[in-house]
Amino acid sequence: MSADAAYVIVGAGLAGAKAAETLRNEGFDGPLILIGEETERPYERPPLSKDYLLGKAERDTIYVHPQAWYAEHHVDLRLGTRVTAIDPAAHEVTLADGSRAGYAKLLLATGSTPRRLPVPGADADGVHYLRRAADSDQIKAALRTASQVAVIGAGWIGLETTAAARAAGAEVTILETAELPLLRVLGPQVAQVFADLHRDHGVDLRGSVQVAEITGSGGRADGVQLADGSHIPADAVIVGVGITPNTQLAADAGLEVGNGVVTDARLRSSDPDIYAAGDVANAYHPGLGRHIRVEHWANALHQPQAAARAMLGQDVAYDRVPYFYTDQYDLGMEYAGYVEPGGYDQVIFRGDVQGREFIAFWLGGGRVLAGMNVNIWDVNDTIQAIIRGRHAVDTGRLANPGVPLEQFLDG
Ligand SMILES: Cc1cc2nc3c(=O)[nH]c(=O)nc-3n(C[C@H](O)[C@H](O)[C@H](O)COP(=O)(O)OP(=O)(O)OC[C@H]3O[C@@H](n4cnc5c(N)ncnc54)[C@H](O)[C@@H]3O)c2cc1C
Repeated sequence: MSADAAYVIVGAGLAGAKAAETLRNEGFDGPLILIGEETERPYERPPLSKDYLLGKAERDTIYVHPQAWYAEHHVDLRLGTRVTAIDPAAHEVTLADGSRAGYAKLLLATGSTPRRLPVPGADADGVHYLRRAADSDQIKAALRTASQVAVIGAGWIGLETTAAARAAGAEVTILETAELPLLRVLGPQVAQVFADLHRDHGVDLRGSVQVAEITGSGGRADGVQLADGSHIPADAVIVGVGITPNTQLAADAGLEVGNGVVTDARLRSSDPDIYAAGDVANAYHPGLGRHIRVEHWANALHQPQAAARAMLGQDVAYDRVPYFYTDQYDLGMEYAGYVEPGGYDQVIFRGDVQGREFIAFWLGGGRVLAGMNVNIWDVNDTIQAIIRGRHAVDTGRLANPGVPLEQFLDG
């Protein structure tokens, strides 16, 4: 096969690595180039705010493949290498050193970048953002000495790092603009569960607050100033206020971009030889009848496998039920489904909410749109099957833990 027939993957995170693996598993034996700007080989990010940050998991557990895998599978892994441009007409990408690589098919797996806090002081020393392994190392080091930590943003990253900071013995104040943590994603009933969880673990959780400034001296943060005039002293400030998909390359190349790289159900972008998967893809989901961009691990694991098969000309439609999980203190949960903020009629609880051992279901039009199992295991596949079934359910029976979940598969 000529170099022109190379398959090129931009972004060597979980999605990029899984696409490379699938291309080889599916028998692609042409040149395969995986380009990543980080110097680490592809790794998984969830441990960075959980066991790796807590010091319970070693560095070598986070990698997607052993180092030798890439050479063994003839994957030309180019680390520390940024792709600066795509030329769709020439079928070439340009690298930061000015060199070019030709492609027959291209996959964009460029992931996302933490949003910066748009206030004075947000880039001072002692202000941490968490995306890369090195960020987790820096936060871990900071938690060894910090006695007071301010966490800005009560999303998944903010809450998980809070749990790690409490485990390290620091006093933690969480500052959140919404009334409750995770309010947009979960709605008030279930968001309250997470508020209670953190308060029960001694966290000073402050909702409905606006951060005005990160204060400091000599370029080093020493606290957070709120718009209401109050000041929260802190030795370390952790910011988790969401992420932005890395779409610049795609936009500059003239691809359709809107909340990510827009693709069809085969993960194909507006250019027939360029695909996208993982955090960066805003893909048409046949089951939901709309485009969605999913910023979660399971999507970065499965979606590139479908993209790789589509790149090989297979008939593919990616329609898995979105899934994610979190671990905070002694709470572990899995969530499946997709609900727009406020896009549900009611929440049904099944089990012991106070004791944090329950399942919550979000319903719309009498059907289950999403479900979250908290400290209850081996039920998420069934929850996903119920969501896919799209049958109207009897809410009284659904709330009754005595009625097996399997009974809702057919309505
Ligand atoms: C701390 C943390 C904890 C998380 N925990 C959970 C969790 O508990 N559950 C869950 O479901 N999800 C979790 N996630 C989300 C999950 O990790 C992401 O959805 C996943 O990493 C997305 O993978 P990706 O390969 O699409 O993108 P990324 O992991 O962002 O990888 C993209 C890679 O592309 C590189 N890149 C970008 N542009 C270029 C370019 N121009 N040239 C070369 N390389 C480029 C980037 O540097 C990066 O290495 C967590 C994320 C973080 C940060």
